[in-house]
This record gives sequence, C-alpha cells and structure tokens, in this order.
Amino acid sequence: MSYQTHTLKLEIAECTGCGQCLEVCPHAVFGREAQSKRVKLLHAERCMECGACMRNCAFGAVQVETGVGCAAALISGALNGTAPQCGCSGKKTGCC
Ligand code: SF4
Ligand code: SF4
Repeated sequence: MSYQTHTLKLEIAECTGCGQCLEVCPHAVFGREAQSKRVKLLHAERCMECGACMRNCAFGAVQVETGVGCAAALISGALNGTAPQCGCSGKKTGCC
C-alpha cells in the first residue's frame, strides 16, 4: 500500500543528521545521504502525514500538515470495532 502526500517538506539545510526521523517514521520515508549523512526523502509517496517526524525533529527540518492521523489504525479500529491501533505500540513512532 502506498500513501501520497503533498505536504511533507524536508529542509535539508536545517538537518543535522541526528537520525530521529529515521527512527520514528513508521513507513521508512527517509533515507540517509551517503556523503553528508543528512537525510533525504527516499519514499515520500509512503507518507501518511502522521506528523511523528516533525514532532521528533528538534531542528525544525521537517514540516508536514498532519491529516487524519494513522490511516492504518483508523481502518483497523473501524473494522474491529476497537480503538484505533496500528500495532506500533511500544515503539517511539507516535503515529497513533
Ligand atoms: S530528525 Fe530532523 S535533524 Fe534529525 S535527521 Fe531527521 S530531519 Fe535531520
Ligand atoms: S509524517 Fe509520518 S509517515 Fe510521513 S514522513 Fe513523517 S513520520 Fe513518516
């Protein structure tokens, strides 16, 4: 499944290469530049606008307009009649 976003923006000049966005993104949107060690948008089409990267970037390098939240969690909750949950519990993703 792929997700399309039109609001995710990465300001590479502000990126320190700390790697937090690599840790928290539940869809591996970011990748590491080989030379600079800063990040790049490797799979922007996977972004579901959960906002975890923006919340965890201490340098303001990532901006995204958060949408409905974790789409996988919302769908799972609707199908199962439970609270939204995508299974990321225990990880520091903050996606739902
Ligand atoms: S969290 Fe921010 S500063 Fe750290 S690697 Fe990601 S974009 Fe760069
Ligand atoms: S908004 Fe969520 S899915 Fe999109 S890049 Fe950031 S952490 Fe990944």
